[in-house]
Amino acid sequence: MSASHTTAARLAEELAAGNVTAVEVTQRHLDRIAAVDGQVHAFLHVDAEGALEQAAASDARRADGRSLSPLDGVPIAVKDVMATKGLPTTCGSRILEGWVPPYDATVVARLREAGLPILGKTNMDEFAMGSSTEHSAYGPTRNPWDLGRIPGGSGGGSAAAVAAYEAPLAIGTDTGGSIRQPGAVTGTVGVKPTYGGVSRYGLVSLANSLDQAGPVTRTVLDAALLHEVIGGHDPRDSTSIDAPLPDLVGAARRGAEGDLTGVRIGVVKELGGEGYQAGVLARFQESVDLMVAAGAELVEVSCPSFVHALATYYLILPAEASSNLARFDAMRYGLRKYPEGVEAPSAEEVMRATREAGFGDEVKRRIILGTYALSSGYYDAYYGQAQKVRTLISQDFAEAFTHADVLLSPTAPTTAFELGEKLDDPLAMYLNDLATIPANLSGVPGISVPSGLADEDGLPAGVQILAPAMRDDRVYVVGAALEAALTEKWGGPLLDQARGLEGVSA
Ligand code: GLN
Repeated sequence: MSASHTTAARLAEELAAGNVTAVEVTQRHLDRIAAVDGQVHAFLHVDAEGALEQAAASDARRADGRSLSPLDGVPIAVKDVMATKGLPTTCGSRILEGWVPPYDATVVARLREAGLPILGKTNMDEFAMGSSTEHSAYGPTRNPWDLGRIPGGSGGGSAAAVAAYEAPLAIGTDTGGSIRQPGAVTGTVGVKPTYGGVSRYGLVSLANSLDQAGPVTRTVLDAALLHEVIGGHDPRDSTSIDAPLPDLVGAARRGAEGDLTGVRIGVVKELGGEGYQAGVLARFQESVDLMVAAGAELVEVSCPSFVHALATYYLILPAEASSNLARFDAMRYGLRKYPEGVEAPSAEEVMRATREAGFGDEVKRRIILGTYALSSGYYDAYYGQAQKVRTLISQDFAEAFTHADVLLSPTAPTTAFELGEKLDDPLAMYLNDLATIPANLSGVPGISVPSGLADEDGLPAGVQILAPAMRDDRVYVVGAALEAALTEKWGGPLLDQARGLEGVSA
């Protein structure tokens, strides 16, 4: 097994024991990136020099007994939606080409304060709109299980980087499923924290009331370790929760012992069945059975409003996005395009030419939808209605959590589809997030844990575990218990079975 296969938790131990240096670990991952990223295209920007400098600083600190955190020296990849001081930040869009932020997002600042070398920025659907990473203006990312297939989206770059062993850890963002769905289709772990649990300062907004950054990893424990680094109150984000995080690492370790006695697990009736691939449902059922065998009590819960979640999301998200994306006006950031054949064009003409050239089709589609939904006369009929349904969805969650400690569903309805398969069919693309969107609309935390390989195509599927707001610890307890049971069943990590990059060395 190549050394870059080591988990972050294990790397932290090896670094602490002095068996390896941060420079060696970082170089190993840079070598892996050099070997495979030509095929995977998980990265939009690799900062080899910066990462090695940060790793050398970490080694120097360690030698002085001044390590900053358990993950000091463990390298990480960051989704290109996060502002990174001195590093390009494009959000997968032409309109931000060439923009180098003068400041760090809080998440990035916290990574630096904890000593994690930043390997680079990962590919994504433009402005995080999509479920396949094919909407990136810089070309798609490919799934390490099968290079002809999508790695999920919008955070396909972060998920693929971790699945391809290019990085032990990555940062993603999840507005409707962009951490969890890529996790499911690449056989990795992804966590959407409670809304307000991780700062949004410096995260380029898609839809402020839904966006949340979180960990992308290969194990549940690694996710908990990373979550503790990036989470917690930030006065720079007015929606940040001013309360301590629960003990997430403790929860993951407790869960890994495999005992779920007394935990009530609720299977959501509305999330499954029609529209879900048979192999995905079979792996889901097996996971539920394993949790019951570990002592959990199974209850079925109904959340009737969830059937409206997708429609609600596709009113609220475009409305917020159309307003957020107004700032890309050719004056402040990145691209500026002058209209052809116009002498002394007006500011409005430059803005129009820039937005026409700088935004892709999906972004334009949502700006138009959102502008329409917010326009006077339609506001009450569309946006106002959607906000009311959003409340109903939260009420369904509240009711369900009186019967169950966590709620379960398949993470995504299908395994990874082929590149190009859904690109011209927006609705088919949107359906990928059927099961993940309710959590964003209500702000509750969720994790996706690999559940195994679907029989039809031998590709990974995921189980989603949701908990009440601010009880992120529960997704780690249950996620780690499930992971432990499944890893024992498989005889090792699921990713050991990925064959897409076979034959590639390093
Ligand atoms: N796929 C969803 C969308 O296109 C979710 C995106 C996200 O979570 N950023 O909106």
